[in-house]
Amino acid sequence: MTIYDLGIIGGGLAGTATAYFAAKRGARVLLLERRDLNLGASGSNAGSIHAQIPFDPFRHLGADWAARYAATIPLFRASIARWQSLEEELGGSLGISVKGGLMVAETPTDLEDLRKKGAIERGAGLPVEDWDAARLRRDAPFLSTRMIGGNFCPEEGKADPFRVTPLFARNAVAQGVDLRRNTAVTALHRRDGVFTLETPNGPFQAHKLVNAAGSDAARVAALLGITVEIEGHAIQVAVTEKRPPTLPYLLYFTGEKLTLKQAAEGGFLIGGGWPARLENGRPQVDHRSMIRNLVIAQTVMPELDGVEIVRSWAAMVNGTADWRPILGEVRDCPGFFLNLFPWMGFTAAPAVSEAIAALAIGETPEIALDAFGL
Ligand SMILES: Cc1cc2nc3c(=O)[nH]c(=O)nc-3n(C[C@H](O)[C@H](O)[C@H](O)COP(=O)(O)OP(=O)(O)OC[C@H]3O[C@@H](n4cnc5c(N)ncnc54)[C@H](O)[C@@H]3O)c2cc1C
Repeated sequence: MTIYDLGIIGGGLAGTATAYFAAKRGARVLLLERRDLNLGASGSNAGSIHAQIPFDPFRHLGADWAARYAATIPLFRASIARWQSLEEELGGSLGISVKGGLMVAETPTDLEDLRKKGAIERGAGLPVEDWDAARLRRDAPFLSTRMIGGNFCPEEGKADPFRVTPLFARNAVAQGVDLRRNTAVTALHRRDGVFTLETPNGPFQAHKLVNAAGSDAARVAALLGITVEIEGHAIQVAVTEKRPPTLPYLLYFTGEKLTLKQAAEGGFLIGGGWPARLENGRPQVDHRSMIRNLVIAQTVMPELDGVEIVRSWAAMVNGTADWRPILGEVRDCPGFFLNLFPWMGFTAAPAVSEAIAALAIGETPEIALDAFGL
């Protein structure tokens, strides 16, 4: 039986990107996906390219948490830089646009907190500008006049979740990756430095293994007796009919969960992590969440009044309670690597997966992941 250099579990963005980067470096790679590619969070997300620390956990977990979480900012920045060279490298459009992200506040207390958060972010090297009400009126005239100030980060933007994973997969296969769809990993063993992956299509073997199973990563790690505190949460997004271009930025609001942006085609994407329902284990749109999300969007941007919702969907996101990514080799299980970036893993995947690929084939990655081990 072939023993691959590297086996990867999960055909989302983390798995396909890791496969591509490892194969490009000369490794013999196997990628196993239990369904089809991009059917998990990677193909169902809102496409925001984030760099600012989210406000909701900042409010609930505090400034000390934010100071610790700021260690992820270099990962986001490296990934955003990587996103911008990927279209040329992978040979296709990814719908990437980096025109900045604006987080706005309606109350003096929130604005004060936003400024504290901005100071932490600047301390970690992220460019964040303080925008007062006059600047909002000038550079964001679409906002409600109830917004009194905001933090603007020029490095944020958006990309198209339908395009990136398939393009990584195509390039991975071109680099020689053995990609198997409809091949769920049901058991794992490690003996004499070789992993055996049991699947309904027979066993496979690899010297190293990467767990990129997203919201199911805890179940996959448990197959080797390893506990990983990552879990699946059902969340949802809605998209409106097309409208003339108005909103160039990725927009957030401190008052309630919101991300809002306008696609190149004209539709507004409205999200922010509102909870969906689980029905027989499958995520379904929760209409109460949707109405709340839409009311907030309209509070921030009044011209959304009367704009029709044309589509909404729900999916499982990979989440950790403290938002911390879990990355790198598991100390107690040499050769087993985790590529688990919660909540904002779409943004982080390119640079982080390149680093995981380098580590898994024994090279030194360009970005340090040491602080994010299990
Ligand atoms: C609605 C929503 C909106 C989001 N918005 C954003 C956003 O705007 N910006 C952002 O940065 N992030 C966003 N995220 C988060 C982001 O999408 C995820 O963090 C990221 O896509 C995770 O990628 P992944 O490849 O690790 O996981 P996934 O894309 O979930 O892929 C994991 C894959 O592993 C497979 N798998 C699981 N178990 C097995 C097994 N035993 N054998 C074989 N295969 C297996 C699954 O079938 C799946 O295909 C959002 C997520 C959701 C759900």
